[in-house]
Amino acid sequence: MPSAERFETVIGLEIHVQLQTETKLFCGCANAFGGAPNSRTCPVCLGMPGALPVLNHQAVEFAVRAALALGCEINLRSRFARKNYFYPDLPKGYQISQYDQPLAGRGTFTFDCEGRRTEARLLRLHLEEDAGKLIHDGMPRSETSSYVDLNRCGVPLIEIVSEPDLRSVPEANAFLSALRNTLLYVGVTDANMDEGSLRCDANISLRRHGEKHLNPKTELKNLNSFRFLRQALRFEVERQSALLEAGEPLTQSTRLFDERTGKTVSMRAKEDAHDYRYFPEPDLVPVVLDEAMVAAAADDIPELPLARLARFTADLGVSYEDAAVLVEERARADYFEALIEAGPSVGEANNWVRIEIGRWLNEHGREFAAFSVPPGALAGLLEAVRNGRVPVGVAGRVMDRMAETGGAAADIIAEEGLQQISTSDELAPVVDEVIDAHPEEVEAFRGGREQVFGFLMGQVMRATGGKANPDTARELLRARLEQ
Ligand SMILES: [Zn+2]
Repeated sequence: MPSAERFETVIGLEIHVQLQTETKLFCGCANAFGGAPNSRTCPVCLGMPGALPVLNHQAVEFAVRAALALGCEINLRSRFARKNYFYPDLPKGYQISQYDQPLAGRGTFTFDCEGRRTEARLLRLHLEEDAGKLIHDGMPRSETSSYVDLNRCGVPLIEIVSEPDLRSVPEANAFLSALRNTLLYVGVTDANMDEGSLRCDANISLRRHGEKHLNPKTELKNLNSFRFLRQALRFEVERQSALLEAGEPLTQSTRLFDERTGKTVSMRAKEDAHDYRYFPEPDLVPVVLDEAMVAAAADDIPELPLARLARFTADLGVSYEDAAVLVEERARADYFEALIEAGPSVGEANNWVRIEIGRWLNEHGREFAAFSVPPGALAGLLEAVRNGRVPVGVAGRVMDRMAETGGAAADIIAEEGLQQISTSDELAPVVDEVIDAHPEEVEAFRGGREQVFGFLMGQVMRATGGKANPDTARELLRARLEQ
């Protein structure tokens, strides 16, 4: 047994998610990524003395929606607190967050891990403001100076803290992925990890199987991609296993993941050294929600990925693997359902959404929402394929042109001469050419090697750019070979 498997892995995640509101949490500045440094700021988010915060209602609604979708209980009364610390990206000298009375808590988030229904408890979900950003590179005097951009200051965040219920690296990965998808489904965030809209810290410790206590944990900071999360956790499993094997105790520490080496390095030894001197925020009244508002938010929540996965497999007969891909993005699952609605069978829609559109997304490096061919238009193309008006071999190409130009399938087929070649008159010369060009294969076939037929068919399809009607071509080829 490898040493890592002799121990049980215990992981909890802390996730910060930017809410996609119009404006910041406590002022009217635009909430958007980028922009000229410090262009989206005002006295409130710059922390000028005397400027007073006003709570953004949309942020509260988004946080409530997120909490309900993740299975948390809403606290009808919560309040903000000041978390005091000094850093140049935090002009007020404190962050407005929630501490002893968070917006939501006591949740159980159910997700799918490799086909297994898995649960992790959520300790809390609270609202807080983001800090600014330090810029260390690319500025006129970057060799000697760092710069501060406060555009992100005051952007609304939710912080979600899980209990240490995750038991393996794949489980932690599946949890974060499902949580991200759920938040995207309810439309409260773009959850873009590259732009920092979703950031993850992980707490991890190991213990012997059967042990109930928690060993001192390592806190891994700023794991800003799924790959880094997996790499950092795997490294920690190995590192802590080796310590336990050697009979050395684990110590509580904070470590940073180094992307270049794939290792984690110690940042500071004692997390408890922090004292944020939390106290209630005197400039804001407590957040009091009424039950009608929470009920309305609950009504607004669409069918979530896990329920959709179950319905696709049970009611539509889609395989688990395919359904998991389909529900990965809400836009993809919506499109799949709209396509079935427009005519194609479940199997056809499933193949096209996953394979052909999937190829298009890969080639263009885009998310599903960027695929612009309406489901009705794609259904029209599929029907033309079914009726033999469009050759199967060029259907993908027609779809690509539809996505590029916004044109209809029929026009593109006519313009580009992609109609199926189905008459014997048109196909016979192509078949003859293929036969003349491959005398050895033809001889082998005539000598009894039936499998060469597939190769020769492939040559006919290739010679016609995939436009040959396969049935007609097959018939002609067989007839000529058997002459
Ligand atoms: Zn502002």
